[in-house]
Amino acid sequence: MAAVVALMAASACAPKAVAPVRVAPPAPGTTLTPAALVAWWDANHVPLPPAPLIAHPDVVAAAAKAVTADAGHLTREVIGRSVEGRDLLHLTIGTGPTHVLLWSQMHGDEASATPALFDLLEWIRRERGSAAAARIEARLTVHLVPMLNPDGAERFQRRNAQGIDVNRDALLLQTPEGRALKALRDRVRPALGFNLHNQNGQTSAGTPPKPATISLLAVAHDQARSDSPRRTVAKQTAALVREALEPLIPGQVGRYDDAFEVRAFGDNLGIWGTAVVLIESGPLQGADAEPALTRLNFVALVTALDALASGRTATHSTTAYDTLPVNDSNLFRLKVRNATIVQGTPTVPPFRGDVGINVSRAVVVRDGARALEVTARIADLGDLRVYGALEDVDASGLTLTPAFDPQARQGDIIRLPDWASWRGPTLAVGQPGRLFLLQPAGASPGAAAGEGSGNWRLIRTIDPGTARP
Ligand SMILES: [Zn+2]
Repeated sequence: MAAVVALMAASACAPKAVAPVRVAPPAPGTTLTPAALVAWWDANHVPLPPAPLIAHPDVVAAAAKAVTADAGHLTREVIGRSVEGRDLLHLTIGTGPTHVLLWSQMHGDEASATPALFDLLEWIRRERGSAAAARIEARLTVHLVPMLNPDGAERFQRRNAQGIDVNRDALLLQTPEGRALKALRDRVRPALGFNLHNQNGQTSAGTPPKPATISLLAVAHDQARSDSPRRTVAKQTAALVREALEPLIPGQVGRYDDAFEVRAFGDNLGIWGTAVVLIESGPLQGADAEPALTRLNFVALVTALDALASGRTATHSTTAYDTLPVNDSNLFRLKVRNATIVQGTPTVPPFRGDVGINVSRAVVVRDGARALEVTARIADLGDLRVYGALEDVDASGLTLTPAFDPQARQGDIIRLPDWASWRGPTLAVGQPGRLFLLQPAGASPGAAAGEGSGNWRLIRTIDPGTARP
């Protein structure tokens, strides 16, 4: 529970929560719609820890529970063990001739899709009576490998316990995780694969930059990024996914860099005979961002499998994929705009500008439970008009300083320190992203900032992190 509280705290200061999509459940027999899948997920998703906190025992327990609940339909096998001996699980559902392989978290700290794989299984089980789910089971055999890199997940790191990036090990196969994935692919020979990742929190789409909440890639299988029937299937699938997600996150679907990576699994699966769609979960506004990312993955995967099973994929236009905005890296976690900036150094007079703050995340064990720790740092300052942000703070008429008083609360009247003797954090790139937004108050409202004179009202403490001084 402590873990959940910590996660909530990490994003509690984001004011623009994503409004939940309110839709009625679909009538029996109606086509799957993104809104209906969202409503289904809200009502029925598998209770698991929020994605960054999910651990290998959670995956093992969820798999066991799913197999028990869906005996006779869902099977489980161990396809290998991680460097540190954790079971690599392979779950199979459906009896159809077309095989599909989905694997998540080959990068240990990229977990958003892992719960979605269990939600997909839950959807098939509960909706077995519907035409869509029945069709998927009859025409597809769906193979899932949730959390391919459990040792990395344990450490909340990208790489495995050897320090190898498993997604650069498709040729050398020095990681047991990579070998297990390769062996499974060679055994089941899937027509389509889904490589499920998370991308950097600065990833943006379009101009002006919006968060690239989901990025898609029909993975190339040669340096020339040639088209082939296989790659076209991946593009058609990605187009269907974009069309499903765009109404839920308008303008926030991007295209991942499509350069061929000779060592990566997605690219080599293409060579070995499997079309691969890469889905990257990225930044999203709001306190409910983590479960919302899992929900978007669920909508994407059910949509893609339904299209494949119903035969719609093969005739679908690739236009929605071809026209995706290419990802950029123009997003801050938080941007303070048009502030009077007081850096907290005696030699720099106040100036007007914007401040961009980014966060890094770590999973720590606190009181025996995994908890997310978010550290905020100043990433840039000056004229930042070309950047977007998950949270935008208009500071016109306000003064921005380092958070110089740990006791101060919103609304308090406080005085600036004497910056000449100040030894605390300053408002500079690389410094803590915990800042005060102040307004002149009291006896000498005209007093210039930085002189240590006059009273100031603390309008807001800016702090997208969870670390406390
Ligand atoms: Zn990744």
